[in-house]
Amino acid sequence: MEAKRLKEKIESYRDEMVKTLMEFVSINSVNPAFGGPGELKKAEWLESKLKDMGFEFERYDAEDERAEGGVRPNLVVKAPGKDSSRTLWFVSHMDVVPEGDRTLWKKDPFEPYIENGRIYGRGSEDNGGSLVASLFALKALVDLGIEPQMNTGLVFVADEEAGSERGIRFLINKNIFKEKDLFVVPDAGVPDGSFVEIAEKSILWLRFTVSGKQVHASTPNLGLNASRVAMNFLSELDRLLHEVFPMKDESFSPPESTFEPTKRLSNVDNVNTVPGSDISFFDCRVLPQVKLDDVLEVARSLAAIHSRKTGAEIKVDVVQRHDAPEPTPKDSEAVTRLSKAIESCRGVKPVIGGIGGGTCAAHFREKGWHAVVWSTIEGTAHQPNENKRIEDLIADALVFAFMMAE
Ligand SMILES: [Zn+2]
Repeated sequence: MEAKRLKEKIESYRDEMVKTLMEFVSINSVNPAFGGPGELKKAEWLESKLKDMGFEFERYDAEDERAEGGVRPNLVVKAPGKDSSRTLWFVSHMDVVPEGDRTLWKKDPFEPYIENGRIYGRGSEDNGGSLVASLFALKALVDLGIEPQMNTGLVFVADEEAGSERGIRFLINKNIFKEKDLFVVPDAGVPDGSFVEIAEKSILWLRFTVSGKQVHASTPNLGLNASRVAMNFLSELDRLLHEVFPMKDESFSPPESTFEPTKRLSNVDNVNTVPGSDISFFDCRVLPQVKLDDVLEVARSLAAIHSRKTGAEIKVDVVQRHDAPEPTPKDSEAVTRLSKAIESCRGVKPVIGGIGGGTCAAHFREKGWHAVVWSTIEGTAHQPNENKRIEDLIADALVFAFMMAE
């Protein structure tokens, strides 16, 4: 019954939801950790939106001198429900990753456009679509005069893409959340909306700094080519990590640990100089049954071996580390409520499992709180021509509204 009324209501917001997501995309909120301006402009736009919609909210600013305005804003919207002792939270993030290579984009990443029923632009899928869906889900309940089963909370955080220190972790320390609360983090999923994520892998970001000796490229014998040392070391590390940690756990997607060489800093500007320094990074997503200390040990020992062999110094630094917390129990209320909503609104059978992470959910799970990650997405996040299907935007809003109402 409720599902039908909610569906009609949300359907009536279609144009407004599309417009809102396009506005979201058009405001550059690249995380300052990646050289962007941060979330202030986006938060200010959302504040005026929330005021227009008549929602109560509070803003919590974490300081960050790298960001526009020197702050990383976090918004918390609350609506009262029948059970006022606990809250069902929907947590999405305002920050986005940089556009990457612009030549791979069909159009400007911050000038959204619609094609084939999709909204294109940086942040459309990650995480604007979910933010907009949660906002209009709550609006549907309010407009229909349906009192939520428990308090409903919407959280729009900063800093999710770079560790959440000034985002969800900052809010957790403000004691906004309670142990009995339930958390939905719509920041991962699959195209048919069936995947409910209850566990995430451990995360380890490593930086490798190789120091050799810079010389003219015509006399390499007088120097020590840091780039060559790095290439040999990194490719062996890549092979070794996969060899030492081959375990699979089919409840995760992908089922194995991943070890990816990612960022490399530029070295010399000219072709005829042997680089004396090389800085590269690995992004490792490790199954919870593998200890991150063991991964680190492999990297450090191999670095020591290559260092001895070549005479170059190889420094291994941990840029980010997050050891996987206990998964959310499969029978927890967060999982059962979400599963019921998926079945009722989508007619698909929920599949419960884990991913490479990391989302805001890991920070809740660290506290022992029950968080589920779910949304309907095609997986274009962080890619050029990132996009969100408008049908999924509408469909997700319905699942959220159903969860709030039932
Ligand atoms: Zn995200």
